[in-house]
Amino acid sequence: MKANVDQGLCIGCGLCESICPEVFRMNDDNLAEAYADVTEDLQETAEEARDSCPTDAITIEE
Ligand code: SF4
Repeated sequence: MKANVDQGLCIGCGLCESICPEVFRMNDDNLAEAYADVTEDLQETAEEARDSCPTDAITIEE
């Protein structure tokens, strides 16, 4: 599975990185990016990060 961050929506709060650093990280502009695939063992925490994002900037697709 792949995660995607709409950086036009991201406000740089850092929550996704703190919840699931295996998939999300902050870039030099302090916006989140998904830098790794969402493997099965990461699905739960990646979805938690998506659901916790205050601006709904994160999507996860098959
Ligand atoms: S949780 Fe949402 S708003 Fe916060 S850094 Fe991640 S993508 Fe951006």
